[in-house]
Amino acid sequence: MIFKGQRKLKNKMNFQGHCPICDCTINLPEGTEESEIITCPECHNRLVVSKIEKENVILEEAPKIEEDWGE
Ligand SMILES: [Zn+2]
Repeated sequence: MIFKGQRKLKNKMNFQGHCPICDCTINLPEGTEESEIITCPECHNRLVVSKIEKENVILEEAPKIEEDWGE
């Protein structure tokens, strides 16, 4: 990765994204990578990291994983 000419932030790099379902702000840990699956702390939906632009993370609703449906 090349970070040529980019100004450094004083704060520790803190990725932040918005849940596309409930629109809450989600803080993501340093080292979050694209295509990583996370769970929204508000609506508990699965989200996939679609894109990372600097500290701004684009989140999308993750495709549903087949699970054993009890109903
Ligand atoms: Zn949410």
